[in-house]
Amino acid sequence: MTVSKLMKKAEKLLTRYPLCDWCLGRQFAILGYGLSNQMRGNAFKTLLLLAGTETYHKDRKRGITHLKRLAENGMFLPALQFLKKEGINGITPVQQCSICLGIMERIREIADLSIQQLKGWEATSILLGSRISPDFIEREEQLRSEIQIESGEPLKAELNREIGKLVTKQLDIPVDFKSPSIVVVVHIPSFEVELHVNSLFIYGRYRKLVRGIPQTKWPCRECLGQGCSRCKDTGKMYPESVEELIAAPLLDVTHGKSVRFHGAGREDIDACMLGNGRPFVIEILTPRKRNIDLEEAAKKINQFAQGKVEVDQLRFSTKEMVKLLKSSSATTEKTYKVIAQTEKPLHPKAQEKLETIPMPLEIMQRTPQRVIHRRADKVRRKQIYELRVTSLKSDRIILLIRCQGGLYIKEFISGDDDRTTPSITEILGKTIKCIQLDVIDVNLPDEVLHGEN
Ligand SMILES: [Zn+2]
Ligand SMILES: [Zn+2]
Repeated sequence: MTVSKLMKKAEKLLTRYPLCDWCLGRQFAILGYGLSNQMRGNAFKTLLLLAGTETYHKDRKRGITHLKRLAENGMFLPALQFLKKEGINGITPVQQCSICLGIMERIREIADLSIQQLKGWEATSILLGSRISPDFIEREEQLRSEIQIESGEPLKAELNREIGKLVTKQLDIPVDFKSPSIVVVVHIPSFEVELHVNSLFIYGRYRKLVRGIPQTKWPCRECLGQGCSRCKDTGKMYPESVEELIAAPLLDVTHGKSVRFHGAGREDIDACMLGNGRPFVIEILTPRKRNIDLEEAAKKINQFAQGKVEVDQLRFSTKEMVKLLKSSSATTEKTYKVIAQTEKPLHPKAQEKLETIPMPLEIMQRTPQRVIHRRADKVRRKQIYELRVTSLKSDRIILLIRCQGGLYIKEFISGDDDRTTPSITEILGKTIKCIQLDVIDVNLPDEVLHGEN
C-alpha cells in the first residue's frame, strides 16, 4: 500500500469512528515491527496533523475540516492546540473511543489489579488471557468490514500482550505460552481478574519398605469414601498409602490443595518396592509455593514416612512426563524377587529346568481372577527376559524374574487356573504359589528418562 493510500484509510476511519491511538493503530497491526499499536495510531495522527496544517495554509476551510476531525474523533490534543492557536474554538473532542470504550487507556489499571490478585501465589512463569464481552468484538468487526481493513489484529491479542508485558515486567516473571504456572484471565469490561493456577509436577523415585500399604489412596469399598464403621470413618480401605505419605509433607511446603499421584506402574499392596525405587510424578494442585527446596522436601517426606516409604531423585517435572510414564509402562522392564512355595518338595533338577528355558519367553496372560472386577478381561502377551533361581530348599524356591511391565507375576507363578501360560506351575508340573513378592528394579526406557526436555 502506498503512503497516500494508507493515510486515506486512516482518515476514513477517523471520519466515521472516534478512535484512540491504540484502536486506530491496531487496524494496521501487521505493518511494521517492534511498534506498539499506540505508536502506530499516534504516527498516523501526527502525519494527518502535518498534512492538515499544510492544507489549512492553502485552503483554510478545508484545513479546518480535517483538523477538526482529528481533534474530535481522533481525540488528538496537538490538533486541538493548533486550532486554538489559530483562534478556532468550540471544538469538543469525543470523550470515548468507539471501539474499546476507553479500555486501552486503562491497561495500567488492569495490570495493577492482576498483580494484586497474584499476591501470595508463587509463579515461575505466567500467561495473560482475557474474556472480552462480545460487543467489543462486534464493533471492531463492523468497522473492519466497512472500511475494508485487512491489516489488523484482534483486540484480544493486543490486550493480552500489552497487559501481559506490564505484569511480567513489574513482577519480573517470564511469560510462558505452553505451560505457565498461572494463567491470569481478565474480564473486559468488568475488570474482574481470575487466576487459573496450574499444577506443580514433581518427579522422583520411591521405595516402599513395608508390606500392606497401597500405592494410592483407596476409597472404602463399603461407603465409597463417605465414612462408615468398616473404615472407622476414614473413608479409606487402608489408613495410609505411598501417595499420602509422600503428599502430606509436600502439601505442607507448597500449600497446595490436593495431589494426583502418577506411578510408573504399581506394586501389589503386599509387595515391597526396593532397589532403585519406582519412578513417579506427584502433581500438586493449586500450590501457593513453587520455589521449594526439593532436597529438603525429600528429607521431610522420609522423616514423615518413618521408614515405610523413602523417596529420592526429586526434581521438577511436567505434565508431559506424566504422559510418558503412562505410555511407557509396557516397555518398562521390571525385576522381581519372588519367594514361592509348593505343596510337595521340589526335585533338585527344578533349578536347571527353570534356568535353561530359552529367553525371551513369551507369556500369554488373561486378566487374573483377582483383578478381573476392575480390569478388562483380555489376553496380554508379555515377555520374560531373565529367570534365575537364587535358592531352592525343599518346597521353597526364590526366583529373580526380569520381565516386561504389566505382567502379573503372582499369576505367572501359579498359572491362575491356566489363564496364564506358560507358568512356573505348568513348567514344573507342580502347584506352586507366590508367598512373597518384592519389586527390586523398575527400569524406565532411556527415552522416558531423558525425553522430557
Ligand atoms: Zn480504543
Ligand atoms: Zn467406609
